[in-house]
Amino acid sequence: MSEGREVLEVDVLFVGGGPANLACATHLAGLLDRHRADGGEPGLDETFLVLIEKAKEIGFHSISGAVMDPRGIAELIPDYQELGCPIEADVDEDELWFLTGKKKIKALYTPAPLENRGLHVCSLGKVVRWLGGIVEETGRVEVFPEFPGAELLVEDGKVVGVRTGDKGVDKEGNPKPNFEPGIDIRAKVTVLGEGARGSLTKTLYATHDLEQDQNPQVYALGIKELWKMPEGTVPAGRVYHTLGWPLGRKIFGGGFVYGMKDDIWDLGLVVGLDYRDPYTDPHALFQRWKTHPAIKALLTGGKMIQYGAKAIPEGGWFSRPRPFVDGCLVIGDSGGFLDPMRLKGLHLAMKSGMLAAETIYDALQRNDFSAGVLSQFETLVEESWIAKEMRRSRNVHQGFHGGLYRGLLNAWLGLLTGGRGFGVKDRMKMEPGHERIEKVAAFHGPSAKPYERIRFDGELTFDRLSGVYESGTMHEEDQPVHLKVENIDVCRTKCAEEYGNPCTRFCPAEVYEMEEPEEGAGKQLKINASNCVHCKTCDIMDPYQIINWVTPEGGGGPRYVDL
Ligand code: SF4
Repeated sequence: MSEGREVLEVDVLFVGGGPANLACATHLAGLLDRHRADGGEPGLDETFLVLIEKAKEIGFHSISGAVMDPRGIAELIPDYQELGCPIEADVDEDELWFLTGKKKIKALYTPAPLENRGLHVCSLGKVVRWLGGIVEETGRVEVFPEFPGAELLVEDGKVVGVRTGDKGVDKEGNPKPNFEPGIDIRAKVTVLGEGARGSLTKTLYATHDLEQDQNPQVYALGIKELWKMPEGTVPAGRVYHTLGWPLGRKIFGGGFVYGMKDDIWDLGLVVGLDYRDPYTDPHALFQRWKTHPAIKALLTGGKMIQYGAKAIPEGGWFSRPRPFVDGCLVIGDSGGFLDPMRLKGLHLAMKSGMLAAETIYDALQRNDFSAGVLSQFETLVEESWIAKEMRRSRNVHQGFHGGLYRGLLNAWLGLLTGGRGFGVKDRMKMEPGHERIEKVAAFHGPSAKPYERIRFDGELTFDRLSGVYESGTMHEEDQPVHLKVENIDVCRTKCAEEYGNPCTRFCPAEVYEMEEPEEGAGKQLKINASNCVHCKTCDIMDPYQIINWVTPEGGGGPRYVDL
């Protein structure tokens, strides 16, 4: 029921302005242009395409490493370089380092699938902004930033569109003078490309059982910074990846340093969100990683200028949900299109968008948007190079659940066996990350001391709030909290006792604090929602699964410029 809200009827609705949906919209617009040029049935030429995005501008919520495999963008826009796609540099030198506490050991050999030379170093934010311009130039797609998809509209099991978020609601949920209700955008096809752990996609997973017979999705948290360095000190196109310290053998992940244009280092640490130690603090690990002599030497004389974080869907081929239901497709990171061996997903996101566009074009011609017709998307994926690449790494992440060395051995055996790995027929199973985190007493012993935060020097290492400042994050302060904790009593009782409130560590933005409002009152959870950089880690890693991330008022969140 629309309850008196404005209703907009469209043909195709794209939810999320990231690389997958922008590729989908561009390709669909191109197919419709060709249809017109070929003298096809005229009704199709009127197809109404709308893209909504929660950020203030397209690209503000886009963040990635990124070393981009050009395969996706080259298929989408063959002359992307001539048209000005903002590539920082082509990778000219690529090294893998194993870090011990003080030393680095350079790998002598990089297996071909992990080779980065010739790929593009880029800022995803810049590429997405550029792609947003391409989409608008098609003249076929209406792009609405500041419109979060707040609720899926579902009728008789069929997705019929999305309700966008209300504006102008105060902390208590009352309308303010500037109140504007969200609108119901009703669509023949809704394409969810919300990024990792999209809030609507999460609902769809649950209501339509999309993970049935699949491994659960597992994630990693990537935290990154940009550093402006003295002139002439950063070779653009230089790429370093690290394994080992400070993650040790039991936490999946590694570091990266990429040379960008204008003497900027783009660096970060990826930490698997399937760790066992409840005291794991990804932000602190990242800050410590920068103090390694090999990384510190690169940063001497520079200044941190931007900060951001996001979750990465790491599970691979077997963790992809069923990507279609009646009236809806799921693509990009939302659909788990990421190669966990290469830690790359941009090319897969774009290709998944293109295949979704071809599926939708066919559905428009048939005027049939049922799951039966939209299931063609999965067939196209299976027949494409997406399947070839992702099947090759289908058991990679599972291997790391046995530790770093077993994971590396399993990945190497996977390379030799076409992805199968060691001692398995085809699929290795995996449990969700939040089920692996152990209680403090189990991991650290019954007399474990409370977790102690490390100190930051403000020059090489920074606290979370300094990072939030550099992320440009802003939200309207007087609005309902968008981190919905089902039962806040659990935080001060069960969670404090069992896990020591891990949300205060895994959130990279100082959103969660346990504070004592007045003496003797006991500690309670305080949620600084306006710091949230929309990484989704809390929704993923909370051991009780009682944190639900929902979209805040449109336009809020980080303002990533070059990340
Ligand atoms: Fe990420 Fe959750 Fe913290 Fe927001 S509140 S920054 S989504 S962990």
